[in-house]
Order: sequence, then C-alpha cells, then structure tokens
Amino acid sequence: MNKADQVLTALKAIIDPDLGRDIVSLGFVRNLNVDEHVGVVTFEINLTTPACPVKDDFKREAEALVRALDWVTDVSVMMTAQPRTSGVEPRGKGLAGVQHILAVSSCKGGVGKSSTAVNLAFALAKAGAKVGIFDADIYGPSLPTMVRVPHAKLYVDMNQMIYPREYQGVNLMSFAFTGSGPEDAPAMMRGPMVSQVVNQLLTQTLWGELDYLVIDFPPGTGDIQITLAQIIPMTAAVIVTTPQKLSFVDVVKGITMFDTLKIPVVAVVENMSYLACENCGARQYPFGQGALRRLIDEYGFKNTYQIPIHADVSAFSDAGTPLVLAKPDHPVSEIYRYLAGNVVREISKIRYGESSTPELSITPDQQLQVTRGGKTHLVDPVVLRLACRCARCVDEWTGAQRLLPEHVATTIHPKKAVLVGNYAVAIDWSDGHHSLYPFDTI
Ligand code: ADP
Repeated sequence: MNKADQVLTALKAIIDPDLGRDIVSLGFVRNLNVDEHVGVVTFEINLTTPACPVKDDFKREAEALVRALDWVTDVSVMMTAQPRTSGVEPRGKGLAGVQHILAVSSCKGGVGKSSTAVNLAFALAKAGAKVGIFDADIYGPSLPTMVRVPHAKLYVDMNQMIYPREYQGVNLMSFAFTGSGPEDAPAMMRGPMVSQVVNQLLTQTLWGELDYLVIDFPPGTGDIQITLAQIIPMTAAVIVTTPQKLSFVDVVKGITMFDTLKIPVVAVVENMSYLACENCGARQYPFGQGALRRLIDEYGFKNTYQIPIHADVSAFSDAGTPLVLAKPDHPVSEIYRYLAGNVVREISKIRYGESSTPELSITPDQQLQVTRGGKTHLVDPVVLRLACRCARCVDEWTGAQRLLPEHVATTIHPKKAVLVGNYAVAIDWSDGHHSLYPFDTI
C-alpha cells in the first residue's frame, strides 16, 4: 500500500457521528500531500459547514491517527468548509451566495421566536459560520431592538440592491431598517402584498456569502406564512413554542404547514419552559409539562429543546445585545449553542440525504411494508395498532395502555399509510382509527 493510501486508510477510522460514515468515503479529505522523503503529510478536511460541532475533534483525531504511522514525522491538517455556492436555488442576486435558509417560526406572537432566532444566529456565527438574520415579521419587527446597530440610512446601489446592516460579523435586515415602522405596514397590506414586500426585501438585500440565513418568520400558519414558505427556498425550519396546553396543537399546525411544503422541521424549541432556582438548580414548571413529551412520543421528534424563563434573556434582548454574545457562559447561552450545533448537524444530514426516511407501501394482502436503509420488512398490524400512543389508546395522565389486545380484531389492517414530515407515519386503520407513529416505532 503506498503512503497516501496508508494515510487514507488511517483516516477512515474517523466516523462522522451524524452521517454514520467515515470522512474519507464522505469525500471530506482533500488535497492530500505526502512528502515521502521527510515523512511530512498535509491535507484538508473539508466539512459541510465551518460551524461543524465536531470540527475540533476531527482535527485532533486526524493528527493523532496520521502521526501514529511509523514513517510520519509531521502532520498538518487544515479544516475547511464547502464552498458557499451550491446552496439554495438562487432567486435574484441577493441570495446567490446563501447556502442554507433556516426559518424560525411560531404559531403565536410573544413566545420568544425572535429571541431564539437572534441567539441561534449569533451562536452559529460564534461557531465559525457566516450568518445573516432576516426579520420577516413586518407587523412586529424586533431585530432593531434585539440587536442594536447605529441607525443610518440603508445604502441602495444603482441596481436597487440594498446593503444589509452588520453586527459582529452577522448581516442583518429588517423592514424597520427601511425607515418604515409597523405602522407603515397598514391593515390594507393584506396577505399577498405582505409576502411580496417581504420577498422583495429578502431578495434585494446583498447578503453576500452566507452559510446560514436565519429568517425570523412572521408568527402564524396563515396565507402569508404559507406563501412565504413557498417562495423562499428554505432548507429547514425551527419551531418555537411555549408549554401551555394549546400550544401543542399550534406546533402540530406549524409542522403540518412545513410538511406540506416539504420543509423539514429540524428542531422544536419550548421556550419559557421552566424556572430554575439560581442556588440549587431545581426546576419549577409553572405551565406544566407534557406537550414536549407528546411531541416526542407521537411525532418521534428527537430534537426538542427547553429554554427556561430567565430575566437575562429579556434584559439582554431589550438592551440590544444577544445573550450568547453578552454572556457566553450563561446557562441559557449554552442551550442556544447546543441548539445551534444540532441544527447544523440536522442540516448536514439533509444535505447528504442521510435522513433515513422510510418508504411505505401497503401490500396486496393489506400489510404495511417498510423499506428503510435498503432493508424491507412487514409490520405486524395487531402489534402496531396496539402501539398507538394517542389519547384514546393511552391514558394521558398515567401513560397506561387503554387499548387492550382483546379490543383489536386479528383481521385489523392499515388502509392508508403516509409519511408525516421527517419523523412520523400516519396510518388510517380498518377499524376507523387514525394513528400517528414515530419512525422508530415501526
Ligand atoms: P416573539 O418573537 O415570539 O414575539 P420575542 O422573542 O419578541 O417573542 O419575546 C417576547 C418577550 O419575551 C421579549 O420581551 C423577550 O425578551 C421575552 N423572552 C423571550 N424568551 C424569554 C425567556 N426564555 N425568558 C425570559 N424572557 C423571554
């Protein structure tokens, strides 16, 4: 085996934890150069994003593995990221250099959507990504409050392209920067006009080369949001909610909206989840618990996050400095960073087509057939029917199964099976029941 091959073989031991494959077969190792006479090896590890959460681990491991080859005297590893050109379908010059557009959405106002969008964006930037924030909430723009940049007229070039504002390396644009306040987005500006104005501002802004453009989406799941989600080439969405009971229904509405438009929801953030005691860390849940659990059980969401109510979140938002910048060591900043790392991971899975979405079909003898990762299996309908976790089949409070084997006919079969987003399967049963299962159940 020649020396370059020896290096590549050694590097195959590094597995990307999210994509489940080694970095050599993923094509991450580039520009390998081996100076055989002196034993010096140089190469690049080209990641999907500069904000890759495992970047430092990869570098350390790669150096150690190559150095362990007995003829190697020195190793130099350069960490690079994908060129930012082949991302979103360019729609106009403004978005041409934008790799991924990430919507941060909620069904109601006041749940902390903007705080999450801003802190998530700055957490991504702090992790090394080039980031922009677009405040698409023209009825209640909060970006100018949350990130205080000196007020100045926007610069518009000869081609009517607008230069975004910039704060600590993050490009910013809001309807409010155009000199128009919410009062200038009058009631007469109904659905189609709002989407048109938002889209125009988005595509006429010179965003430059960005890894992530975070869009603070207008709250709700109405016409405006649906139109925007259709016209903006979004990679993924994050939904923000609060723990009140009703909001579970709202989250499901949001998921359904993005689902219909084939935009994967990569995280659900439950904001204002709990109060943590400053001294002992004990948590109080003033709005109760359970909505997130239902989301995990019924929809198979793994990427759920809880952000506590903390005076610092609002204090720093009001002061115009995002918490993750002002107090990077704050426990809530840690949660935002964790969220950002996982969003990056989920997006890179989408990019590599590694989200292991199963294919479903119903066989002529009415069995549910599932194909996942190249393997096909049939699911026992009685077992699956009994595994239904809906409120009618399971006691919501105790978690005990209400639906017992004697209630399920041995002839039960699925009549229809469809995928719900990236995470769940909806089944219409021959007994008239409708069930929702996380993928992992089937
Ligand atoms: P939305 O964008 O959903 O309307 P905002 O992000 O503007 O919500 O938040 C509404 C208010 O709640 C703001 O004053 C914000 O500072 C405050 N807030 C948001 N999240 C938290 C939190 N986790 N703890 C305390 N205050 C919060």
